[in-house]
Amino acid sequence: MVSEFMLQQTPVIRVQPKWEQWLKRWPTPKDLAESPVAEAIRHWENLGYPRRAKRLHESSVILTQKFNGEVPQTFEELISLPGVGEYTASAILAFAFGQRSLVLDVNIRRLLARAWLGQSHQAPTISAIERALAKGLLPIGEQQAAIWSAAAMELGAIICTARDPSCSTCPIVNDCNWFSQGKPNSDIPKKIQGRYEGSMRQERGRILKILREHQNSTSRGQLVKQSPDQQKFETALAQLLNEGMIEKTRGGYSLPRS
Ligand code: SF4
Repeated sequence: MVSEFMLQQTPVIRVQPKWEQWLKRWPTPKDLAESPVAEAIRHWENLGYPRRAKRLHESSVILTQKFNGEVPQTFEELISLPGVGEYTASAILAFAFGQRSLVLDVNIRRLLARAWLGQSHQAPTISAIERALAKGLLPIGEQQAAIWSAAAMELGAIICTARDPSCSTCPIVNDCNWFSQGKPNSDIPKKIQGRYEGSMRQERGRILKILREHQNSTSRGQLVKQSPDQQKFETALAQLLNEGMIEKTRGGYSLPRS
């Protein structure tokens, strides 16, 4: 569950060391639940999208109080937890518990789009056709289905990459529809990733970085000092307060103290 939270927006290479440190520090949901949420946000460090740390902490409290300190093994229970969406719930069921569940991450979706649908890339959102196709491909047996999902994900991540698919080494090259058509560009809109530079996300990250580095309160003046954009600063600060990622203190702001 921890790895799936971390992998939601961050590549494996950056997640792995942090995941190992995290589990060393908090080996069980109860351990995390007993730590202040500020510690979780602090230890998330530079993984990005730090709301995930807060949600993981909230989930650990619920797991401790309602699920006897265990991660539940049904889709409905998993999806009721903060920060767990359809993909994360499915991935936990498949990879942690070896169940038959439909895992559709970006790598599997790209592989299905190319090899089965003959398209150069996947659509921005999952369609009913894609879901039905993936369901039909999933082996019936629980373990086989989980292995299929892991294998398809690896094939998409390592061989059938977005920019430069290695078709000459691909084990399914003879069955690939896109390859057999000469790899034409499809007329399907691509999901556009917004720029980080100058974004609200960058400003939020900048504020949180300062607060993570200070155990005590940090004054508004210190926070605003290095902001390149006053208006962005105000909006980012308001968002972080609203989400409970930071708190107002007597002297300024800090990570949540409770
Ligand atoms: S043949 Fe090329 S495009 Fe087709 S699945 Fe393999 S790597 Fe992807």
